[in-house]
Amino acid sequence: MFFPSKFPTLATTIFAKMSAMAAEHGAVNLSQGFPDFRPPQELLKCIQRHIDSHTHQYAPMPGLPTLRQSIAEMHRRTHNIQIDPDTEITITAGATQALFAVIATLVHPGDEVIVLAPSYDSYVPAIELMGGKGVEIPLSSDFSLPTLEIQKAISPKTRLLIVNNPHNPSGKILSAAEMHFLENLAKANPHLIFLFDEVYQHIVFDGLRHLSAITYPELRKRAACVYSFGKSLNATGWKIGYIVANEPLTREIRKIHQYEVFAVNSFMQAALAEYLPDFDPSVLVTHLQAARNYLQTLLSETRFKPISTQGSYFQLYDYSEISDLDDVLFTEWLVKEVGVALIPISVFYKNPPKNQRIVRFCFAKRNETLQLAAQRLKNL
Ligand code: PMP
Ligand code: GLN
Repeated sequence: MFFPSKFPTLATTIFAKMSAMAAEHGAVNLSQGFPDFRPPQELLKCIQRHIDSHTHQYAPMPGLPTLRQSIAEMHRRTHNIQIDPDTEITITAGATQALFAVIATLVHPGDEVIVLAPSYDSYVPAIELMGGKGVEIPLSSDFSLPTLEIQKAISPKTRLLIVNNPHNPSGKILSAAEMHFLENLAKANPHLIFLFDEVYQHIVFDGLRHLSAITYPELRKRAACVYSFGKSLNATGWKIGYIVANEPLTREIRKIHQYEVFAVNSFMQAALAEYLPDFDPSVLVTHLQAARNYLQTLLSETRFKPISTQGSYFQLYDYSEISDLDDVLFTEWLVKEVGVALIPISVFYKNPPKNQRIVRFCFAKRNETLQLAAQRLKNL
């Protein structure tokens, strides 16, 4: 059977690759971003109740009204903003499908999309599948926004700017000044639309605040914002997320969403709708901040050098005192020979910086898991 490949040079995603290698080599898996502790017990009980009930047939295409209502209410509580659950929220099969639906809605052949590298690996393939072009701008060396470069990259062909905040893989969160810059960018470029990937919205450390794009009127008018329950509820396997966008954009997004998945898992939606009013992100944040600090303490006895992280599940570490191997070779060696799986960050760039020796650790793990990893790394 002969057919032309849509992506002749595209490799399997690094998350599938590293988790498979971790399993094959019996390594401690700190690569793919998932917790090894359970979702909240109350939520699990809620799901059990809904499994025993009658919510097993198709949910409405945009998502269960009760869940959309609970999400709007959650954003009102956390950010004091009103979102119309009927016309501005769509429930998706995780953030990955949400991102895909937004990109498919907005990107036409020949359009340019500005992507800030290192960037989450699903953005550029989705852009290219729609016939668009990902224009990669590297973030500054401290992962802040390269404001001049972004301004210079905007052309009449620029349809979309994708911003991930808190940022994977660096854990950087945008400052008020950076959000202000984006607002001014919106005002100065009326043709520009924004895609905010805010899947780590609740996971922010050291008393800092996540500044959501939805709270900035100029951005909200022209943005789609994407979220994931996988991250906020320690349940990445459930693959439920949502999109917040204004009514005309939501209407177009749903035209794509209805033929990508139609609707998402019904009893999980019902359970989430019931659980969300009790959801308190501070429990998760306290837990993850302690895990981040614990990993730092454990690794302080090694030659891995931490790069500051303010949120997410992740911390970057510089390994240049340990090895001269590039990060892909280093992580392959590490998983096979040392028994710890990490993520090389060069895969999140089209043009990775030369001689960058940085890897990503996922610290959303139990203390025993982090201890075992550190024990294996301590002699490097
Ligand atoms: N965006 C970013 C920045 C991510 O780290 C992830 C992984 N959670 C996703 C999107 C995809 O989320 P989901 O697992 O809900 O598809
Ligand atoms: N978001 C997760 C990470 O960055 C992985 C998501 C996936 O496996 N596709 O590790």
